Amino acid sequence: MLAELLPALIAEVELATKLLASAPRVCILTGAGISAESGIPTFRDNQTGLWENYRAEDLATPEAFARDPELVWSWYQWRRQLVADKKPNPAHDALAQWQYHAQSSHQQVTLITQNVDDLHEQAGSDVIHLHGNLWGNRCSQCDTSYQNQSRRTFDSASTLSFDEELINCSRCDGYIRPDIVWFGEALPVQAWQTAEEAAANCDVFISIGTSSLVYPAAELSQLAKQNGAKIIEINPSPTPNTIVDITLAEKAGVIMPLLVEQITKL
Ligand code: NAD
Ligand code: ZN
Repeated sequence: MLAELLPALIAEVELATKLLASAPRVCILTGAGISAESGIPTFRDNQTGLWENYRAEDLATPEAFARDPELVWSWYQWRRQLVADKKPNPAHDALAQWQYHAQSSHQQVTLITQNVDDLHEQAGSDVIHLHGNLWGNRCSQCDTSYQNQSRRTFDSASTLSFDEELINCSRCDGYIRPDIVWFGEALPVQAWQTAEEAAANCDVFISIGTSSLVYPAAELSQLAKQNGAKIIEINPSPTPNTIVDITLAEKAGVIMPLLVEQITKL
């Protein structure tokens, strides 16, 4: 399979393999690009259907929800429907396999994601979510959690209804909102702290399928670099991240299985 890649890319994959094989601690950050090959559009892709005239950045904010909660809620119900039947792709699978292998090789592989889908979990990974979870809800006023509106609940519902009607909190009557970190909101404290520690203490940091435009997640690679880590980026398109040591300019679903196969057989 390696032979199918361009020679320059093969050389970079070999360099990355060498670096990763001897790294005691690896920190990995994934973004929307890793789920693209599972059929979930990234945020830089244009929205389709009913939503083609809206920008995601204008819907994923507390201000948008305050102004028009019905609009934001129905957009999320649409996104849930879009994601409900999606499955992990070879990149998610390879990461899960690597984490499994790392337990016996005593390598520390910390996986952090900006994604709100659950494809890493479905593949069997242990993952830290920085931006919340598409399947959770909470009250927009009193914060009561309405978790467990899980994919399974949706899947097993006979009608698979992604109701667009707003729901009210049984405690305070406030509107229920998705348990997602919107633009302008703080990241979950524990998840961010774990991510910062993993980035600051790793030997190699890998950024997969993220445009590196959204902060503070984009800071993690800088933190790793300042603490002496090497940075690997996997993305078919260039990003503004200028501190990268090795760029693997290919799809994650092509690169990750190759990389993990090489690392785990060493
Ligand atoms: P992004 O859409 O900004 O970038 C996706 C990246 O993936 C691009 O750089 C693209 O070149 C790359 N890519 C595409 N296909 C790929 C593949 N097969 N393999 C590898 N890479 C591939 O996504 P992001 O960087 O995850 O965005 C960061 C955060 O911004 C998101 O987690 C999200 O929280 C936030 N955001 C949210 C919304 C929202 O609606 N909630 C909207 C915009 C941004
Ligand atoms: Zn409430």
